Amino acid sequence: MAVYPIRTFGDPVLRIETKPITDIDSGVHTLAKDMIETMYDAPGVGLAANQIGISRRIAVFDANDDLGPRVMINPEIVETAGEMEMEEGCLSVPGHWWEITRPAFARVKALDLEGNEVEYAGDGLIGRVLQHELAHLDGGLLIDVLPKRVRKKALKELRDEALGFT
Ligand SMILES: [Zn+2]
Repeated sequence: MAVYPIRTFGDPVLRIETKPITDIDSGVHTLAKDMIETMYDAPGVGLAANQIGISRRIAVFDANDDLGPRVMINPEIVETAGEMEMEEGCLSVPGHWWEITRPAFARVKALDLEGNEVEYAGDGLIGRVLQHELAHLDGGLLIDVLPKRVRKKALKELRDEALGFT
């Protein structure tokens, strides 16, 4: 197993839509284990493959609910409902937290490591983690869903940081 360095804001791999996994082979099993180890090491509650530079449609999460780490291969959001504001951060945008409004509930269909179709659903933290990781796999970042004025300020801060101004 291996802990990967996590790619951060400004790395183009985070902005590219990931490619579906067509064959769940031993390489995918190893990748999932490494992603789980990297997520716990960070520590974080979710990690998408492009956050470690691998542009494949796979993410892992552990929403602190005693079920342990779970793997989502080729996940798709099939249902969302409600609306909720929640403080949200991202391992790829370290040191920043924003109040972000997203649907409160999300349901995701995916494949597990055995190729079985699985569903993950919930509100609160799990609903938030599912939406956050799925956005990563589509090349999104949490700043994309900030209100325009807040996003402008956030982008300025992040660019100044990247340039070493802060
Ligand atoms: Zn993230």
